[in-house]
Amino acid sequence: MRAIDSHIHCGIQDPYPPQHINAYLNAVGKAPIVGAVAFPPVMEVYDRYDSSFYDSDEWRRKRNDAHDYLLALASGMKNFRVIPFLFMWNDFAFERLDEGFRGVKWHRHPEEPMYDYKNPRCALAIDAIRCRDIPVVLEEEFHNTIRFIRDYARGVKVIIPHCGLLNGGYERVKAEGLWELPNVYADSALAPVSVIEDFLTTYGHEKLLFGSDFPFGDPQAELDKVMNLPLDDNAKEAVIKGNIIKLTGFTEDNFR
Ligand SMILES: [Zn+2]
Repeated sequence: MRAIDSHIHCGIQDPYPPQHINAYLNAVGKAPIVGAVAFPPVMEVYDRYDSSFYDSDEWRRKRNDAHDYLLALASGMKNFRVIPFLFMWNDFAFERLDEGFRGVKWHRHPEEPMYDYKNPRCALAIDAIRCRDIPVVLEEEFHNTIRFIRDYARGVKVIIPHCGLLNGGYERVKAEGLWELPNVYADSALAPVSVIEDFLTTYGHEKLLFGSDFPFGDPQAELDKVMNLPLDDNAKEAVIKGNIIKLTGFTEDNFR
């Protein structure tokens, strides 16, 4: 059974830890992973250690280079398919979406510089995402996660990584009623098996995506974790490959 990893960080500018594509492929080893959704590393997008950081030309350059790298991988690799996502920051560079990005990464942790949700370009970016019907991997503080899903980006397909561990916690997202929304998905990266099992029994296998969070998670171990779940083959196939293929606009034929 082949798999696609729905969550890897991949870039050449931030070498700590190494997260270029060959580092990833080495970590995959003999595991049957044939493709991966890739985002630029955070430190190639904004300065996460400067809470007053907003943006600069230098960072815009860095960000563009990081995305160019992913696009080059997406078009230049044989035997492995990189599915590039655009990491949105405060320049809301949605104009780049049509260069081949299949989704968007939207990411910040508490204490990190904030998204300027009031910027008119933020609404334009969300409109651009909505009309392309592409998914957003959303890792934000709890209150911003709620606002994003219920208000700013209502109806947009959202993947909450780590089953919500870094969005306020699985249970809080559950209590808020977000998981049951038809447009909200979860990835399994670094989530405990007990949480994943609860998600699957409550919301079904069509809403869960296998992800590793490389370089912070190990693709082989994260795939084993999902393969060892008590699921039938159809459900397993959906979680490790089928669901992300559908969400990113591919077909099974693209991965044969
Ligand atoms: Zn991650």
